[in-house]
Amino acid sequence: MNADASQIIARDAATPNEAAEVAGFAPVDLYQRREKIFTRQIEGRFQRLRLYSGWPLLLGYFLVPWLEWGDRQAVLFDLPARQFHVLFVTFWPQDFVLLGALLIIAAFALFTVTSVVGRIWCGYTCPQTVWTAIYMWIEQVAEGPRHARVRLDRAPWGWEKIRKRGLKHGMWLGWAFFTGFTFVGYFTPIRELVTSLVTFEVGTWSAFWIAFFTAATYFNAGWLREQVCIYMCPYARFQSAMFDKDTLIVSYDTARGEPRGRGQSRDGLGDCIDCMLCVQVCPTGIDIRDGLQYQCIGCAHCIDACADIMTKVGKPTGLIRYTTEHELEGGRSQLLRGRVVGYGIALLVMCGVFVNVLLNRDLVGIDVLRERGELYRVEAATVRNDYALKLINKAQSATRLAIDVQASVPVEVIGATDIEIEGGEVLNVPISLVLPRDALTVPSVDVRFRICDVAGHCNEEISRFLGPVR
Ligand code: SF4
Ligand code: SF4
Repeated sequence: MNADASQIIARDAATPNEAAEVAGFAPVDLYQRREKIFTRQIEGRFQRLRLYSGWPLLLGYFLVPWLEWGDRQAVLFDLPARQFHVLFVTFWPQDFVLLGALLIIAAFALFTVTSVVGRIWCGYTCPQTVWTAIYMWIEQVAEGPRHARVRLDRAPWGWEKIRKRGLKHGMWLGWAFFTGFTFVGYFTPIRELVTSLVTFEVGTWSAFWIAFFTAATYFNAGWLREQVCIYMCPYARFQSAMFDKDTLIVSYDTARGEPRGRGQSRDGLGDCIDCMLCVQVCPTGIDIRDGLQYQCIGCAHCIDACADIMTKVGKPTGLIRYTTEHELEGGRSQLLRGRVVGYGIALLVMCGVFVNVLLNRDLVGIDVLRERGELYRVEAATVRNDYALKLINKAQSATRLAIDVQASVPVEVIGATDIEIEGGEVLNVPISLVLPRDALTVPSVDVRFRICDVAGHCNEEISRFLGPVR
């Protein structure tokens, strides 16, 4: 078709899609409508595994903020005090590079695990998966099994539907509140948070964040569900870069299953009886028989469902199974390969460096600030400079700090040089240095402030002594 003809057709068409169709192009809808997914509950080996792996994590999440360490919460990210307490370690702002390193190590650990066992994180331990599974279970309790939920969804609104939906959303909101409240309990002492909640004296920010995380949990696990994995999670998108032909994937054995078909007579048919159970249990609503898809989170629901069916029809299980592309092609999988060894070595090196830095980090800290009022004070035959020392004891126990001042000129120290400091305490200590005017031959002299605790941990900072030169 020449350009003029298509322009005439496009001008006479009622809609752009109609114009495209007339011109011989298929219209493309850029918005993919969401299909409602009603998952069927399934039992099996991998669902039990999920139970055993999910519950400890879930219990850990809800219980950890209640643990005590000495006289404080064992895990507390105290933002106002800028201290992150994790059991016996307290991270200070100066240590945030360590927290950054910890996140990088966690990411590398995830890369290593993914390159070997695929999306095991997504399928078994990701909070989105675990919370969605809980929300689906609640849905089943409130609205019944899959067929009842489909029927309820199609039914017109009436008392029964309102009651069941109300119960479901009430339970979802309750669990979301419990989740949001616990999350805030990692940042605000959780016992104080409970007291402030029951006495209606909770702070504005705490109330805001509890409401925010309640809403986030409710919408993510209740409404968005697989949409988070498919459209929002960046990890889902880039993890395929860690996959190779030896990575564990959930796969349908096409050679054994096809041609699929229903009916008693299996002549010429493969083992797949086309019961669709593997699709009905899939939380992302895909058909694994279409091949490996990025929407597959590796949860193994379909493996358990198909294993159940195969057992019932007297066939060996494993039509859908954890396998690798190499195995599907008839080869043998290799566990130790370049990529895995590379990730493993990088991970070991990073862990070693991290532990070394953590064990040898400064346990005492010092910041030296010159008093802002005046640069120096001339008093008869002397020059005086005032400083404010910020002393930090990063250790958990009290100690004494000895302050030592060194300079190339004979300065006299005025102020306390032996300081008692509690564990995890920050002290502001004023100190002054005095020098005979005649001793100052240059307008600025470096001064080294050094502190040491009784265990020999030291730290120092260099400041300046200023004065007039005759
Ligand atoms: S569950 Fe198994 S038998 Fe049923 S459709 Fe899926 S692959 Fe085929
Ligand atoms: S295809 Fe199977 S493993 Fe993948 S998400 Fe669906 S049920 Fe889970």
